[in-house]
Amino acid sequence: MARDSSPQCKQCRREGQKLFLKGERCLTDKCGVERRSYPPGEHGRGRQRQSEYRVQLREKQKARRYYGVLEKQFRNYYEKASRQPGITGENLLRMLECRFDNVLVRLGFAASRRQARQLILHGHWTVNGRRVNIPSYQLRDGDVVAIHTGSTATQVIRDATELTGQVPAWLQADHDSLTAKVLRKPERREIAAPVQEQLIVELYSK
Ligand code: SF4
Repeated sequence: MARDSSPQCKQCRREGQKLFLKGERCLTDKCGVERRSYPPGEHGRGRQRQSEYRVQLREKQKARRYYGVLEKQFRNYYEKASRQPGITGENLLRMLECRFDNVLVRLGFAASRRQARQLILHGHWTVNGRRVNIPSYQLRDGDVVAIHTGSTATQVIRDATELTGQVPAWLQADHDSLTAKVLRKPERREIAAPVQEQLIVELYSK
């Protein structure tokens, strides 16, 4: 499975904000954005030229990095979103939000999307009783997520639940039994991604 292996703190610094890619570390003063709040690279502290295209491009890159999706896959999400009824940008975010790896983070069962992906790939989770090892798997209304019987990652997952604030209203989590249910698809206002999806739609529809 292809993935973006570039340093995560550099990705946040490039986008000029915390994308919370590293779990617990993001909540400490070791955070790369807290320590060096300018873009990485030799010209990071130079003046950045702003153009409409640049603003749209950065927004798309930010969304991609936030959800940990590569360019081609992100473009595929956009194509699918544009064919669905409703607002394309919202459809796009909804699909990204319903990825299995993202849902584990929202439920508090993983400290970061990277950790969620690893847990899924190693077969620690089931959906409706069947082992699912595809991080991009789209969860649907009514799906039941549960830790696989005999999983050796129970403690890691329990540690992640300690970092969790509130589970969004479209999900239901039981942190004792490490099970959860998708109640419905999220509304736009329930998606906490720091992304202006309209800029991404403008970029791709050029
Ligand atoms: Fe981003 Fe987390 Fe690194 Fe901070 S610590 S720069 S939020 S990945």
